[in-house]
Formats: sequence, C-alpha cells, structure tokens
Amino acid sequence: MKRFIAGLAASILLWAQPAYAQSILRDAETEAMFNDMSRPLIIAAGLSPRNVRVVLINDDSINAFVAGGQTVYVHSGLIQAADNANEVQGVIAHELGHIADGHVVLQSDGARPAMGISILSMVLGLAAIAAGAGEAGMGIMQAGQQAAMGKFLSFTRVQESTADAAGAKYLNAAGISGRGMISFFKKLQNEEYAYGMGNIDPYAQSHPLSGQRVANLTHDLQMGPAWTAKPDLPLEERFKRVKAKLRGYVADPKTTMNIFPETDQSVYAHYARAYAWHKAGYPEKADAESAALLKADPHDPYFLEIRGQILLEAGKPAEALAPLREATNRSDNSPLIATTFGHALIATDDKANYPEAVKVLRQAVARDDQNPFAWYQLGTVYDRTGDQPRAMLATAEQASMNGNSPIAAYTARGAMAGLTPNSIDWIRAQDIAMTAQNDIDENPKKFKRR
Ligand SMILES: [Zn+2]
Repeated sequence: MKRFIAGLAASILLWAQPAYAQSILRDAETEAMFNDMSRPLIIAAGLSPRNVRVVLINDDSINAFVAGGQTVYVHSGLIQAADNANEVQGVIAHELGHIADGHVVLQSDGARPAMGISILSMVLGLAAIAAGAGEAGMGIMQAGQQAAMGKFLSFTRVQESTADAAGAKYLNAAGISGRGMISFFKKLQNEEYAYGMGNIDPYAQSHPLSGQRVANLTHDLQMGPAWTAKPDLPLEERFKRVKAKLRGYVADPKTTMNIFPETDQSVYAHYARAYAWHKAGYPEKADAESAALLKADPHDPYFLEIRGQILLEAGKPAEALAPLREATNRSDNSPLIATTFGHALIATDDKANYPEAVKVLRQAVARDDQNPFAWYQLGTVYDRTGDQPRAMLATAEQASMNGNSPIAAYTARGAMAGLTPNSIDWIRAQDIAMTAQNDIDENPKKFKRR
C-alpha cells in the first residue's frame, strides 16, 4: 500500500508541477511572525509550540498543506493572496486541525525527518547555493512528493469538515476572530468559480470548498465568542511588511515596481523595492531603499539585516558588520541573522574577526537545526583558523542536513580522527558517522555511484 501511494504521489507530482522548483524560504522576520501568529492556535490545539513549525515555501500558487509530522507549509502565493494576518491565521487554524486530528499519517523513511532541510535565505539564497549549501535537491524532491501526498491524503470531505470545525474551535479558544478564515475561504471559492473546473487552485484541490462547507464554518464561527474580537494591530502591521518584502523577493522586479512605484514612499514600498533592486542587480538603488527604511526606524533589526545583506553582497563586508551586529543583538540572536553576521565577519578576511565569527555561528547552529549554510560558514572559519577536525565536523553536519550521507560519513570519520576521543564533538562526529552509514546501508540504491 505504501509503495502504491508513493507511486501515485509521484504521478500527481508530475502532473501538478511539471518544472518542479519548489524550495523552502527562510527569513527571520517571516518566521518570527509565523511563530507569534500561530502560537495561541497551536496551544489551543493541544500541541506544543516547540514542536510545530510553520514553514514558507517559495511557490506562487495559493496553497497551504501538512505532510505528516507537525509542520504547516504555507506557499508564498498564499501570503500574497491574503489581505491580512487574520486570514493567514484562519488557514493555519485549519491546517492545525489536520495535524491535531492525525489526518496525514505518513512515516518518513529513515530516522532523519524528510523535511529537515532548509535551502534559501531571502537575498542570500543565491550566495548560499554558490557556496555549496544548496545541495538539497533531494530534499526538495522529498518536499514535493510529500506535498503531493499531502494533497492526495487530505482529499476527503470528512477530513476537511473536521479540520474546519477544529480550526474554528482553536480560533475561538485563542480569542482570534474567524472573520479572516471565512473571508479567505470565500476568496478561494470565487477563484474556483472564476477559473472553472479545469483550472482549480491547488488549495481548492487539497481542501475542496463546497458551499455547504463554508456555510457550516460560518455558522460555527459566528456563534463563537471570538467572532467580534478586535484585530491584533501590531501583528497586522508585521504582516504588511512581510507581504511587501516577500513580494520584492519572489516577484519579477518589474511587477514589484508596478505595485510599488518609486512615488510610493511608504515603508512597505521601500522594503519591496530594496529586494527588487537587489534582485535586479542594482546594488546602489537597493542600498538607497535600505537607507530609507533605516531613516524610518534606525534600530529595526530587520531593516538593519537587509542593509547589512546588501552591503555584504556588494562586496563591502566591513561596512556590513555594524548593521548586522546590531540586527543580531536586537533580534535576540536570531540564528538566520547571526549566520549572515558570521558570514560578513569571515568575508572581511581579517583574522581579528574570526573568533567572533566562531562564537556567533556556534550560537546559530545550536538554536537552528535546519541551517546548512551556518554549518558551511562555521566550517570555513574553523578551516581558516587551522582547526581541521572541527572544520570536518562542520562539513559532516552540513552534509548530514542535506541528506548527503556518503560525504557525512567520510568527513565525520575524518573529524573523529583528529578530535579528543569521547569529547562532546567526538561523540557528535561518531553519531553522524553511524547515522550516515546506516542510511547508506539501508538505501544502497540511493547512493549507488553513477
Ligand atoms: Zn484541509
């Protein structure tokens, strides 16, 4: 049965996504917003905020799904289609209903969670790939297959209705209005109608939206105590910023400039254009937009982050240090921002900066277990300071995270040879070597030499 489902999922995948180029997008500000907007719902669902993740996928279509485990995947297209944070909360509440009710019961092969792989950081994405941190093609395919499987398995109407009812319950328990859930679902229904049956949106495919379903949900929510709850204004403000920066990062620069012409001097427009100019290869214009953002709020950690990223990628790492150091501090050492800071410290090629790079990168990898780029940077700085065993261990961590078991096993053994036996790092290297070897032994076909 499992084999059958896997085969079916693969064919759904081919049909749904001919040119499969999905990737997980990592951005400190977006992830902080997801955490804060979903926390009360996760608690209301009886789940732990420590275990549930909301992950952003770089895909223009309007979709959100669960695929086993406790991760909610949200497409960037859904963020663009949503008018406010409350609508996204409605979607997350529904997806949490699927998780809490155990609708997708899929086991990933092997001990490593199939989705334990992160790929692109906003702006830094291309640099990360160039630096070799992007060997996650296998991970991307797994994500795609799981997405397809998630769609297949969440097809039944009964599951959709129970997820709706559960989502409505969580919204009420969390004191969050369900108006957004209703308005977003109605929006999807209109799209479904507008496009006709031949071109249904993926969200509608995985979450069939009958009129009856929306009517039931509306009734449940309107009866509940939170229907008239006031919007969370600070959260709504954060959503507008995230939506604008994502637009700038994901969309074609021309589209961004149409939506946010230069006459628009709002923070959102500066934010979107900073990414758009950067993406289009105009570092000076991008820098001017980031300067405008900092004029509006000189100590905003995410404005400091984009300023630092732009300077770093413009080949001015020394100038990037001050904004990135402050961004790291003001974001409570956000691992993603700290990684960029560590990258900038290394890029100065100044030995005096290496100890600080080791410190911030070690903190980053300790707090974020899905950041191969941080391990890549840590390996680089160990290598430059002559600490070969730890450089190899960092490479092993990175390879293990990217699912490259042969490299992980080889470098972990190399690290063990140079580390003090039974030290913490030695034990870690041994763990990686054993796990990677098991993976190779259990999946001989996967790692067969071509
Ligand atoms: Zn659903």
